[in-house]
Amino acid sequence: MGTGSEKKYGGLDGFRIIAAILVIANHTSPLLSYDAFADFTLTRIVSRVTVPFFFMCTGYFFLQQIGTDKDKNFDRLLKFLYKVGKLYMLSILLYLPINVYAGYFTNQFSVMTMVKDILFNGTLYHLWYFPGVMLGVCICYFLHTRLSAIGAFLIALLLYGIGLLGDSYYAFAQMNPYIESFYQAMFSLFDFTRNGIFFAPVFIMLGGLIATYGKHDQTKRMSYTVGFVFFFAMMVTEGLLVHAFHLSRHDSMYLLSIPCMYFLFQLLLSMRIRSRRYLRNLGMYVYILHPMCIVIIRAMGKATGLTSLVVENSLVHFLLVTVLSFVVSVFAIILVKKIKKESSRAPDYSERAWAEINVAHLQHNVREIRRVLPKGCDIMAVVKAQAYGHGGWQIARYLQKLGIGHFAVATLEEGIELRKKGVRGEILVLGHTHESHIRQIARYRLTQTVVDAEHAKKLNDCKVKIHVHIKIDTGMGRLGESYHNIEEIASLYRYRNLYVCGTFTHLNAADSLEEPDVIYTKNQISRFQKVIEQLRAKGIDPQKLHVQSSYGVFNYSELNYDYARIGIALYGMLSSEGDKVKTHMELRPVLSLKARVVQVKQVEKGASVGYGRAYTADRDGKIAIISIGYADGMPRLLSHASASCLIKGKRVPIIGSVCMDQLIVDISDLDDAVQGDIATLIGVDQAECISAEELASQCSTITNELVSRLGERVKKVYRSDSIVL
Ligand SMILES: *Cc1c(COP(=O)(O)O)cnc(C)c1O
Repeated sequence: MGTGSEKKYGGLDGFRIIAAILVIANHTSPLLSYDAFADFTLTRIVSRVTVPFFFMCTGYFFLQQIGTDKDKNFDRLLKFLYKVGKLYMLSILLYLPINVYAGYFTNQFSVMTMVKDILFNGTLYHLWYFPGVMLGVCICYFLHTRLSAIGAFLIALLLYGIGLLGDSYYAFAQMNPYIESFYQAMFSLFDFTRNGIFFAPVFIMLGGLIATYGKHDQTKRMSYTVGFVFFFAMMVTEGLLVHAFHLSRHDSMYLLSIPCMYFLFQLLLSMRIRSRRYLRNLGMYVYILHPMCIVIIRAMGKATGLTSLVVENSLVHFLLVTVLSFVVSVFAIILVKKIKKESSRAPDYSERAWAEINVAHLQHNVREIRRVLPKGCDIMAVVKAQAYGHGGWQIARYLQKLGIGHFAVATLEEGIELRKKGVRGEILVLGHTHESHIRQIARYRLTQTVVDAEHAKKLNDCKVKIHVHIKIDTGMGRLGESYHNIEEIASLYRYRNLYVCGTFTHLNAADSLEEPDVIYTKNQISRFQKVIEQLRAKGIDPQKLHVQSSYGVFNYSELNYDYARIGIALYGMLSSEGDKVKTHMELRPVLSLKARVVQVKQVEKGASVGYGRAYTADRDGKIAIISIGYADGMPRLLSHASASCLIKGKRVPIIGSVCMDQLIVDISDLDDAVQGDIATLIGVDQAECISAEELASQCSTITNELVSRLGERVKKVYRSDSIVL
């Protein structure tokens, strides 16, 4: 499911609420005080669409994830069973007091009945749904992964047929003594055939089939509506006939509920209403909690002496239970969310070294940069080198959500990765790409930088049409056709196979406010401007223009081109500590770098520590081994730079030489550090902070290099709980 398709389940989400209310009706008989027949029709026939609907939702979302990878499929099954099983266990515990009160453990209790209840019947009347859906999903998983879709559906249908004979059509089973005894044997195992074996599979399969083959066609909405209304009416008729002829043993399963549910489900999907996740949860909570609310209303009726109104008037009873169930459910949802948030606040990462990426800060930085950019100038997000160590496609995907539609990478492979991970919009490859890779440029709809006249000719000669931006060298002395060669530059726009969509240059001293550098930069800008004017004079449209990178915006924010290619500022860093800039932006660092204390030990005065005996303890003390080293991006240059890291909110010095996989810190001044503690190399720990700028300056480099060289072993953990979209 891509993000685009996430939007269309609002019909299903909305119906979950209706279904939940119908389930409450089913268990409270709202019309009983007024008209027994109407109540029967509502609670024994009409409301029978609810459970099949829930099964179909499960089938629809679960079976569409089942693909060809056997291990993955099995993992998904286990994950599903774990999730539902957990919910089931919690529900059993929740209702245990009611079981006790109702005499579950005193009246004819045996371990056998309890096992049967847990496996089939549910320990309270509504809880059968959980074992039902788990069993049903297991059966469907088995059928789906072994048989054709039709074969699997036919078997599920057969099971449903067997179930029908034990439910609404039991009278037919009773006609033959052998068949009847077969059912009697089954009923010693479970109370009803409306369970995970005979009831659930057909609807789960039906949901899965719709997911696989159904085209959610809005134009067919009318026929779905007609189909639903027709079969719904037929199903009600069927139910009334079954009732009139006393055919049933129980009244959960009808023959015509299958076509009825098919049309209902297609109708709900064809509505293409935006998904509403909170409704999804709300329906489930109401389902689980409403029997509790029935008990509460009854107890309150007793306590206040209002039983005749709040319980005996069936409609009032139903309404009170419904309102209470929704209120309790909303509170429960809020409570669960809070608990989850609390537990995610103190994350227990078992990784040895990881980078925490704060996406809310990324969002903040985008806002801040947009604030200072002139109107009409867009951010082109530079996400090369894994977005400066922050995770290339992950960052690009977040930025895409924030409305950014232009990206820049350094290499072809980086561009391809973004496309494969679903990044849309323009992706400009800033570096040189050899013409032999031109098919990939075209195939992944990347935009290639033309670095000079020769490059352009070679690309054009491949006879594959691609998009390009032309790069002008205005004084950096790196890639780009020199600004002198105006005739050569002009010729780049005339190639048949190169669609030129932009022209740009790069400034190489925009970070400096020293006067000679400022003059140099302004000169570069006017060289670029002159090239553009000369092109226009020749009738050539240079298309979109871009000049500045982060420091170009910091110091020359008045320039108004189409894009600014922003890298380091997006990630909330300056290149060097204490850089002076003209335009202030309040940027927040996106990345924190953490590792773990994996060992704590005593050292005696005079003991040497680390390779080359680089450190000698000058007193009795304690050291901690931290699981991060130069292969993870902590430069070896830090070894004698009086660098430090943070443990328990305190600075502790890094001692000895940084190793490939570990480094060592002196924790003699900490009294409570233990194995498993978190060491912060970049970031905030309580009141202390080590910025990337500080660490970079200690190893004589800039933050750009430090973060883009984080090793592959450093896990990235994205924290997006506070993102506001
Ligand atoms: C890396 C790069 C940028 C981004 O630079 P920052 O200083 O990180 O904003 C912009 N343009 C080009 C050509 C680059 O190579």
